Amino acid sequence: MNKIKISPKRFGVQRLLVTGDPLYDMRNYNLVIPTLHGLIDYKQVAGSGVDIANHVSTFALVLPILLDAPKEIDSKQSNNGIEVKLETVKLLYANVGYTVKPNVAGAWSYMKSIDNMNEPAIMGEEVETYALEVSIDWPTWFNYALRSHPDLYDELERDVRNLPIEVISIPFRVERIFPLIIAHSLAHTLLNFHSLYTGGERKDLGELVLVTKDGGGGVAKTRTFIFDAVMGGNGVSELLYNYLNEVMSDALDVMLRRHKNQRPGTALWFMGEPGDLILGTWPRCIYGNVALSRLWLLKFLAIHSGMSLQSWLQGQPIKLSFP
Ligand SMILES: [Zn+2]
Repeated sequence: MNKIKISPKRFGVQRLLVTGDPLYDMRNYNLVIPTLHGLIDYKQVAGSGVDIANHVSTFALVLPILLDAPKEIDSKQSNNGIEVKLETVKLLYANVGYTVKPNVAGAWSYMKSIDNMNEPAIMGEEVETYALEVSIDWPTWFNYALRSHPDLYDELERDVRNLPIEVISIPFRVERIFPLIIAHSLAHTLLNFHSLYTGGERKDLGELVLVTKDGGGGVAKTRTFIFDAVMGGNGVSELLYNYLNEVMSDALDVMLRRHKNQRPGTALWFMGEPGDLILGTWPRCIYGNVALSRLWLLKFLAIHSGMSLQSWLQGQPIKLSFP
């Protein structure tokens, strides 16, 4: 349970001598404080222009931190640098604070630290659990992709150049941004589409994306972890490992259908609608739903299958085997 301290700054001026417990006037959403000078109400003291919230929503910000090298149980590999593993992992499940959002229109949500703002603390818990890891060796993948799509970099750059919103700050380097977006988009695909095969819920799994850079500022490797969000595991990531190909095929089917209905060049065409990659349900994305692209994920999966997105859009049958 988190504690929200309200410091009555405006009351400080006259150093009120509070004589009893503050009362909350439910009907008028007002706080009434009994003092030596009589009852003082918060709305009156705070003046006009203040909206009083009758409740606030708090969301815990929990970051998983990998503590040890994972221990492999089983693995599957493709010939283009993608490896999928089932493994046990040791994580520090670290609660770094809360966002607090009042239910008042236009109000900002703010960050509440654990302990105080000047000395923030982390509430950590060590968790040993099961995880599915998708790792991609990017130099190998790009080598493979460029053989069939020699102008891939230019094509990816064109995708973002004319978007109505800036999804990626330009100039950017495709070989650096594309791997991050694919690693994160893969995580959300699995989080959004696993339920049918695993029987699990969104909150049963957590996500973690790790990136290894190469010497030149590009990406050498990305590691996407989808882990059981409880100590000892809950069996969901193991089922996900066993049904990975089915989950990915179903997700591809849905995303491709929606992609066809989206007007090219729009933000939704690039990112996808909520429910594809954007996580709308609690627990929210720990990376704030950034670096996601349905378009690029579809291109990635098409190239992985020895096809192109264009050929899929023209109706060629989909043969996805993942990894
Ligand atoms: Zn995420």
